[in-house]
Amino acid sequence: MLDLKWIRGNVELVQKAADQKGIQVRVEELLDLDVQRRTLLRETESLREQRNLGSTRMGTLLQAGEHIEAAKLRESLRTLNENLSVVAVKLEETEAAVNRLMLLIPNVPSADTPIGKSDQDNVVVRCSGEIPEWNFTPRSHMELGVMHDIIDMPRGVKVGGARSYYLKGAGLLLHRAVQQLALDMLLEQGFTPMDVPLMVREEPLINTGHFPVGQEQTYAVSEADKWLVGTSEVPLVSYYADELLDLNEPIKLAAVSNCFRSEVGSAGRDVRGLYRVHQFAKVEMVILCSPEDGVSEQLHQEITNHSEALLSKLELPYRVMAVCTGDMSQKTYKQYDIETWMPSRDAYGETHSSSNLLDFQARRSNIRCHDARGSVVYCHTLNNTAVASPRILIPLLENHQREDGSIYIPLALRKYMGNLEVLIPAK
Ligand code: AMP
Repeated sequence: MLDLKWIRGNVELVQKAADQKGIQVRVEELLDLDVQRRTLLRETESLREQRNLGSTRMGTLLQAGEHIEAAKLRESLRTLNENLSVVAVKLEETEAAVNRLMLLIPNVPSADTPIGKSDQDNVVVRCSGEIPEWNFTPRSHMELGVMHDIIDMPRGVKVGGARSYYLKGAGLLLHRAVQQLALDMLLEQGFTPMDVPLMVREEPLINTGHFPVGQEQTYAVSEADKWLVGTSEVPLVSYYADELLDLNEPIKLAAVSNCFRSEVGSAGRDVRGLYRVHQFAKVEMVILCSPEDGVSEQLHQEITNHSEALLSKLELPYRVMAVCTGDMSQKTYKQYDIETWMPSRDAYGETHSSSNLLDFQARRSNIRCHDARGSVVYCHTLNNTAVASPRILIPLLENHQREDGSIYIPLALRKYMGNLEVLIPAK
């Protein structure tokens, strides 16, 4: 959420951000409604004051035995009360409309964010690693998964429906190994590991900017009046909702969790394999920091580097992309995606996403800290993928395959895999 006063002074900028991010909202409409809201508020206050004065006068008239005057006053107070009820209802409706529109107003992207409509317009920032070249036809992760009996999609679909899967044997071990490696790396960087609620109330989703824009991506647990989170960023940020924090040092949190996504709107896209599924695991970083002195910009580079370090340990070729306006979410100020080389797609595929939100989530979540002069201000929040699996298994299995179907295990994973150096196909 942006500050309404700030929006009033930056109408064109905010409208441009909404248009660039494809969000249907008219900033002028919000401001008009806000003017109406303030007029109605003044009217309500004035009517209340008149009513209070009238009630006091009524007491005086009755004490003085002025019954005719008192009857007249009673009549005018009745009319005043009726007016007050009408204005109060209008005020409530207008406040609700202002709040509704405020929740649609996007964060304004950073000045260096590329302008564009979709991920096709994202810009390469840097590349790392060599794209493998083989003198044999490489297998897809699905072929390798069957060959090694480590991924079972048909039975996944039988049990869980479309986009469901089982990981078996070394498949599960790899899935857990990448998460443990990511977590161990974050522990070294001073992150506090957390296990978090994955069924949450609506409020944390609104406050972290996942609702109402994007709400259709989230599964409801209707009987419990709760929702299944698509990312642990929601419970991690919300952990500090309504709190005043000491942010002399940034707070660094990491969660290991399952994530659930309806993937509405992606029917027919990435339907084969493990790329786009409804349930996956993610090790996520969240940082809360002071809004001063470019601290969050600095941390944004740092957390992006953490993900790159993980991919280097996995010995995978990747590239860092500056995400364009049309591909970033409502809440984002600046975003890097990391794409890892996926041979079966003959392309890089997104495996990580690193975002700086400035105070957008903190304002909605009411998370504050002191600035250098001691004033209370909203803090900044950032989030980033340390690793998401099974998607990372795609580049991991495919890039490290050999002609006979065996799969090389990167050194960094071996200690989580019983020192296994290579996976030998089951059939
Ligand atoms: P996000 O939280 O949307 O920025 O996504 C972070 C990472 O989670 C992505 O870069 C993917 O690696 C992974 N991810 C997101 N959605 C899915 C999905 N539907 N299936 C598998 N992995 C996903």
